Amino acid sequence: MDTPRGMDDLLPREVALKRRIEDVIREVFKLYGYLEVETPTVEYYELFALKSGEEIRERMFDFIDKGGRRVVLRPEVTASIARLVASKLKAVAPPLRLGYIADCYRYDEPQWGRRRRFWQGGFELIGSKDPLADAEILEVSYEVFNRIGLRDHYFKVGHIGILREILSSYHVDERVQDRILTLLDRKMTVEAFDLMKENGVDEDGVQVIRELTKLEGTDLRRILADALNLLSPWKEACKDLEDLCEIIDLAREGGVESRIVVSLGLARGLEYYTGFIFEQSVPDIKIALNGGGRYDNLIELFGGKPTPAVGCAIGITRIMQYILEKKPEETPAPSRPKILLASVGDVSKKYVMRVARILRSMGFGIEVEVLSRKLPSAIEYALKSGMRFMVIVGGREEAEEKISIRDLELRRQVELPLSDRERIMEALAGVERI
Ligand code: AMP
Repeated sequence: MDTPRGMDDLLPREVALKRRIEDVIREVFKLYGYLEVETPTVEYYELFALKSGEEIRERMFDFIDKGGRRVVLRPEVTASIARLVASKLKAVAPPLRLGYIADCYRYDEPQWGRRRRFWQGGFELIGSKDPLADAEILEVSYEVFNRIGLRDHYFKVGHIGILREILSSYHVDERVQDRILTLLDRKMTVEAFDLMKENGVDEDGVQVIRELTKLEGTDLRRILADALNLLSPWKEACKDLEDLCEIIDLAREGGVESRIVVSLGLARGLEYYTGFIFEQSVPDIKIALNGGGRYDNLIELFGGKPTPAVGCAIGITRIMQYILEKKPEETPAPSRPKILLASVGDVSKKYVMRVARILRSMGFGIEVEVLSRKLPSAIEYALKSGMRFMVIVGGREEAEEKISIRDLELRRQVELPLSDRERIMEALAGVERI
């Protein structure tokens, strides 16, 4: 029997890689002061139906539970964090820095980088409107990617406020704005422009947006000048643009050396974004490995105080797939014991268990030989499994309360009393202790 479509078993090599990425994310939580939280995999449907966007709404695993409530497997975690801040954490004075590592579920068509169950690692900085907060999210993303070894990553940054302000100036309803931004995110520009026209955006407005969506590149000052020219009638949009420049400048000061592509037509599938948005990826793939932005209204929407917030969700599963396929040499080997405990002759099973217990209590990972292999094939197995030592016990060792330690690399063997911990430690030097 296989797994449900798009849901993957993770084998030891994959779990080892996943742990490494999670370890890096947790290191960066600590480095920047993000406290980790966990929220449930199953949430009420309304939590995501409200503002997570059409793309996500259409692809939720939703069902009715035994109590008759409509629930979903979470498609993302930011909405859960906003719920948490609006409820259990409402008495905590801002700013809050929250982190999570969680599995998410989307009924996507399974393909490269799109699984139905995948893991995200997120950073959410809650309570600050300051561009410093947005810049910090770029910094933590930079730090995570570099520590994972994806040094050639780049950012694509934009500001959703600019398009929203132009659309609002033509009184385009917020729901329709969401739809237009979703179409732009899906690169369905013709449909997006048609919808703008149908909703009262005149030819000049459409033209400005068309020009804006073409403004993309790394020359920040040139794009700023061109965009300010286009946007002069929209004062708020000009402010957003300056805000975006400040965020980039601050991130640079904070050490973000990556290529940053400014893309004023950038839109993201999630509807809760209100300002700065970004994606992060590497040159040889077409989809994003990380995505985030500012969501200043979501916490209030869930009954909390008006609270600005900014965050990102790093796609752990997608990064894993990228490394496994494109950089397999960077995949860590699963950690296995370096010591095989083998018995020979008429040693009792009890003695084998005792020796294993004592060695483990000293911090050594021990694999006990359980297939009654003869010594030569046990050695062959140990060598094939990348082990360094064998601990061998036989009837004589048992009678004298001793063990033999064989160094498979140096081809040396010593016999030591089981009680002589110091010399056992010496003989097993080089083995990492747990
Ligand atoms: P989003 O929540 O859509 O902003 O996604 C954030 C990150 O999660 C993306 O950049 C991807 O790396 C990852 N992601 C989103 N959907 C999937 C999926 N179906 N399978 C694997 N990773 C995904």
